[in-house]
Amino acid sequence: MHNKHTDLTPSEQNSLLLFDKENVWHPYTSMSEPLPSYLVDSANGVTINLASGEELIDGMSSWWSVLHGYNHPALNKALQEQSAKMSHVMFGGLTHKSAITLCEKLISLTPDGLDKVFLSDSGSVSVEVAMKMALQYQHAVAEKKKTPLTKTKLFTVKNGYHGDTFAAMSVCDPVTGMHQIFEQVLMQHYFAPAPSIKFGDKWSNNDITELSALFEQHHNEIAAFIIEPIVQGTGGMRFYHPEYLKACRLLCDKYDVLLIADEIATGFGRTGKLFACEWSGITPDIMCLGKTLTGGYITLAATLCSSHIAQTISEGAAGCFMHGPTFMGNALACAVANASIDLLLANDWQSQVHAIEETLVEHITPLNKHVRVKDTRVLGSIGAIECKQSVNVAQIQKRFVELGVWIRPFGPLIYIIPPLIINTEQLKTLVNAMATVLDEDECFNLINE
Ligand SMILES: *Cc1c(COP(=O)(O)O)cnc(C)c1O
Repeated sequence: MHNKHTDLTPSEQNSLLLFDKENVWHPYTSMSEPLPSYLVDSANGVTINLASGEELIDGMSSWWSVLHGYNHPALNKALQEQSAKMSHVMFGGLTHKSAITLCEKLISLTPDGLDKVFLSDSGSVSVEVAMKMALQYQHAVAEKKKTPLTKTKLFTVKNGYHGDTFAAMSVCDPVTGMHQIFEQVLMQHYFAPAPSIKFGDKWSNNDITELSALFEQHHNEIAAFIIEPIVQGTGGMRFYHPEYLKACRLLCDKYDVLLIADEIATGFGRTGKLFACEWSGITPDIMCLGKTLTGGYITLAATLCSSHIAQTISEGAAGCFMHGPTFMGNALACAVANASIDLLLANDWQSQVHAIEETLVEHITPLNKHVRVKDTRVLGSIGAIECKQSVNVAQIQKRFVELGVWIRPFGPLIYIIPPLIINTEQLKTLVNAMATVLDEDECFNLINE
């Protein structure tokens, strides 16, 4: 059969995959017993085309980052035009229109009060930057007041995820973030229980009892509180009550602690609001953006902060913020981010997300009754099925490919977070595939891990 998706012969494909298996690390994957990888030829709209010929409807948005689909003419054009001028220039002493325009957009779209933008290369780095900003701010405050510096720790909730670099990892969930392996080198921070009242359930102040007590007890040591607004993503797609985040804002104000909102997974419409902080009507002191920032095209992240923080840091002993990545303000990334944000606003993203949410509610919620299912959850363009058992990733992945979809579950969680341009038919194909594997014993591990 003629395969339009590749010029590679089956034997060339096999030798590429063999080299990959033996020499190339993949995320969270063993090198001695690796999970299989599928060779991709190209991707278009919401489909990923495998070199072996299968066309898969993408339910993952390439780790939650694609908004307008793959190979989008407007995004391609932005990249081509920018690369014809320059792909990159150093950001020390030089600046350019693509970066400036992007920062203008970010300041105007994010909640009021975030007026200064620090561009960096990935989500984890934007979290490092946020944490460093908070610590340098507290250092400058203590210096100004001529008081000893005590606010040197971070505070967060369990079940969170903020990235894989060391500072970011130190505020990830201690168990799933594997803190025991790095115990001797990780900074020690404070952890409150994860928010337990779900989005849409009835609020009770019981959910913040321990949080409030920990704030009261340790605020003298705490520089900043960091949290993923509304959605704990990697921690299991758990959606929590907006009142919880409101309470975090109030407690931070009361105890002179900075609030860092990690909107890397939630930013740009995913949850039904442009930024998830809007569900609670709050402005954080510092906000991290990444993932969807370039519509899934290239790595780019941003850390926004208030003028007050920027000014305090700049008036401190160092006289500046001590950070500056080589590829800061990369012109290609900024150009494609500008084009992606323009598309988002032009495309009526609210209707797109609303349509996805309606279909997900209609087709995922009934699966709650399935014997294997513990819970189903839908918010905005995110739909998740939490199973009673963890999945057998290799087997379930194989089945999804056979069913013509790309869905990559983790632990007991089978979830989708599709590009916003997906249509109802494609969305139903994704959910049908999820429903199909629920009936297949070999897709699940026997014990609940
Ligand atoms: C993905 C993610 C990060 C890390 O971003 P990278 O680009 O992978 O470094 C940080 N925080 C949250 C909430 C994320 O979802």
